[in-house]
Amino acid sequence: MQFNANFFDGKNSANKGCVLLYNDSHFIVEHNGETINLEKINWKKTSTKILLTSDSIGKHAYIAIDDTNDQHEILKLLARVKKNRSSWFSRSFIIYYSIICGMVALWCFLDSLVFLLPNSIEPWLERQARLVHFRNSEVLANDSNNETLRKIKESFVEIDPSLDGIEIEIVQSKELNAVTLPNKKVLIYSELINKADSIEEVVGVLAHEMTHVKYRHCIAAYLKVSFLSCVDKIISGGALSESGTLMYLLQFSRENEIQADDGAIKYLDQLQLSTKGMMQFFKKIKEKKSSKFWLLELFNTHPSPHARVTLFGFYNKTYKESNFSEKDLSKLKGVCTVKSKQSKKTTNTSL
Ligand SMILES: [Zn+2]
Repeated sequence: MQFNANFFDGKNSANKGCVLLYNDSHFIVEHNGETINLEKINWKKTSTKILLTSDSIGKHAYIAIDDTNDQHEILKLLARVKKNRSSWFSRSFIIYYSIICGMVALWCFLDSLVFLLPNSIEPWLERQARLVHFRNSEVLANDSNNETLRKIKESFVEIDPSLDGIEIEIVQSKELNAVTLPNKKVLIYSELINKADSIEEVVGVLAHEMTHVKYRHCIAAYLKVSFLSCVDKIISGGALSESGTLMYLLQFSRENEIQADDGAIKYLDQLQLSTKGMMQFFKKIKEKKSSKFWLLELFNTHPSPHARVTLFGFYNKTYKESNFSEKDLSKLKGVCTVKSKQSKKTTNTSL
């Protein structure tokens, strides 16, 4: 479809004839030997003309259609273009939100997908985790060269055979923490042992970590980070991954932490150990963290230390005897006092 029109370039008042073409939902203007595809058309009807403007022809330029019959036809075509554009936006909107909803659904089901993943990927994930977080950390002892760690490990496997294959290590760190890595590895930091007031405190923290191992929580965390990393690469070219922001999400979810705390209470009961040690541990964490910013707790991936002190206090019981004694704690402290080079401080907290 083709119409005769006048082209005003906005720089001088002289009008010049041009041809306006309509083809496949697009308006095209042929002017001065140039063919311009008109994008983002706006139009205005005056008493005698229709004036078309478009980003493609410049800010002040416009095309005027004088013929009344042509005006009538062009108005119908403009309405058709507007309808097509709005239907394109609707389709894009639906597709965009379908993708978002699909990703949210996938995110929610990632925890459930963990048990579909073969155990064979865990050694690889462990290597990646060590490379990222523990490249410079010195291992002070592990359960194959330390009798007390071996005793703790065997006690856990005895009460829960699904923990068979776990390995416990003490790593040099100034942080009061312990972490679980893929492939059933539990790392306890030397500072936690140095500051521990009882063997219940150390075994309690390990009991919490054992629950993370049992339910493969760190695999879920790695899946989520990998998933977000892919999304990040698509949306921002990997900016979040490079800035390290995604690593924050490597921490376990609040639900996983609650499950690990519940698991610790059960394991400690089976080991005939009081939860008082865990209470003491979270009191120390509480002292280190400000409790004034209670609103931030809502966004924290971990339950508040205050809530955990209350929880472990509630389940506190006294047992007549257990396999563990304060001598075991002294032996572990002995390992940590061995002079070793300062390890690089890690930033991720997982407990
Ligand atoms: Zn935890």
